[in-house]
This record gives sequence, structure tokens and C-alpha cells, in this order.
Amino acid sequence: MFPDVEQPVPSAIRQAGPRRLAITWSDGGSDEFDVRSLRLACGCAHCVDEWTGEGRLDPASVPDDVHPLAIRPVGRYAIQIDWSDGHTSGIYPFERLRQLGRESDGA
Ligand SMILES: [Zn+2]
Repeated sequence: MFPDVEQPVPSAIRQAGPRRLAITWSDGGSDEFDVRSLRLACGCAHCVDEWTGEGRLDPASVPDDVHPLAIRPVGRYAIQIDWSDGHTSGIYPFERLRQLGRESDGA
């Protein structure tokens, strides 16, 4: 109904380096993520307690060289990442990626 207020969606997702994932957004913005930070930011039920919101993922259990094996779109609101540590249930809503991108911008 109001297409001009839709959430921006990724227009391009690419590996920007061995440890970096870059997303270009449909509104012209772009974000770059450290892939391991992205893995640790997983919000799925395995990694975050659904009731308390507490993190269940032990960062020590995530290999330093963890990286995406496959990235798939989920509907029009998220991407799903298959990780090299065998974790495949992580879904990253665009809104969360934008938020993580803002946080990693620092100051
Ligand atoms: Zn997860």
C-alpha cells in the first residue's frame, strides 16, 4: 500500500574478505560485518533462550575461522546463513542486520 516506506532489502550480499561480509541495501546504504561477530549474534532458539532472551551460545565453542557456507533469502525480511561450524538455523532479519551494522560503525 505504501511501497515507499518498506524496509530496505539487501540489493547485494558479498564476501568482502575472508572475515568480512558486505551488504548493500536497496536504499543505497551499506554495512560490513565481521563474520564471526555475525555468527555470535545469531538470535535463533539454539543460541538465545526464547523465554529469558539470555545468550546460550558459548563464544568459545565457535571456531575463530567460522564463515558462511551459504546465504539464502528468507521471504522478504531475512537471510538464512549456513555456517561452517554446522549451525544452519540462524535467521537474520534485515532489521537486525541494519541494527548490527549501526553498532559496528562504532562512535
Ligand atoms: Zn543460532
